[in-house]
Amino acid sequence: MTDRYSRQILFSAIGEAGQKKIRASQVVVIGCGALGTVSSEMLTRAGIGKLTLIDRDFVEESNLQRQSLFTEQDAYRGLPKAAAAQRALRAINSDVEVKGVIEDVTWQNIDKLCQKCDLIVDGTDNFETRFLINDFAVKREIPWIYGACVGSYGVSFAVQPEISACLQCLFEQPTEVGTTETCDTAGILASVVHVIAAFQVAQGMKLLVGESPAQEILQIDVWTGIWQTIAATRARSSECRCCGQHQFRFLEGQEKAQLTRLCGRNAVQICPPRPTRSDFQEISKRLDKSAQIDLNEFLMKIRIDGYEIALFSDGRSIIRGTNDFTEARAVYAKYIGN
Ligand SMILES: [Zn+2]
Repeated sequence: MTDRYSRQILFSAIGEAGQKKIRASQVVVIGCGALGTVSSEMLTRAGIGKLTLIDRDFVEESNLQRQSLFTEQDAYRGLPKAAAAQRALRAINSDVEVKGVIEDVTWQNIDKLCQKCDLIVDGTDNFETRFLINDFAVKREIPWIYGACVGSYGVSFAVQPEISACLQCLFEQPTEVGTTETCDTAGILASVVHVIAAFQVAQGMKLLVGESPAQEILQIDVWTGIWQTIAATRARSSECRCCGQHQFRFLEGQEKAQLTRLCGRNAVQICPPRPTRSDFQEISKRLDKSAQIDLNEFLMKIRIDGYEIALFSDGRSIIRGTNDFTEARAVYAKYIGN
């Protein structure tokens, strides 16, 4: 081992043996926004073996205040976050096999995307995906670290299947879209992101070296300085639909949503029922006269009638300029078709 990890190895709970385990590990970070960029940078610097980063979105200027891997150039080019992050992380540590995957994680592909991993880190911005991760992780007995931030407040918790409470034990159902504060309504501070990502990565590394993670739910407000931990062990319930009764409704697609409002974006994502292929050529030909079209190797951006449609090659699109599902569906149908 070179000098690279010497300070981490000096930390007695890790040591040479722990570093070998970290090196042999495979971690998946789902969501490459604020939490995902910060945690994946720490994991990459720590020298894990393989890091898979999955994200459905592309870089925008308003991301740069807190999403630490991205540059103005990435925002200007509208690069997919997974591709921009992959490039940044490879430059940080070429020892780590970093793979950026430009996809939306769904019940149909989570198995393929997360197979063989030792740990999943939550970098998502919505409860639907978190409950899907929870179902998958409990079923496959893979630990995962929940994390969420809004405003100056953040919360995190390690889920260790069969041992700790799971997300479903703690929250009965995903909250309704639009009923809780989001980055859109309350804003978000970069500082709280770093605290929560730090806790996620520390607990993840404990798991990777074979230690049990903290069984506490961490809640912190970096603005007021008030933080508290709540013991989560007692929250584990044999009545729990997921870890108690092994009903994996999210994983079986019974809770799927094809339309999603995107946090902080005045935008709606639309996924076709099945993965498909977008014919960029055909669409640009069709919209040539009425729209402004930008094309890069990953996606097509169409500006039309006050909307901005980002179309990915798998048929998924993000419609900016509305939060309304019906309106978004109409825009999609009108300009992209089925
Ligand atoms: Zn549970």
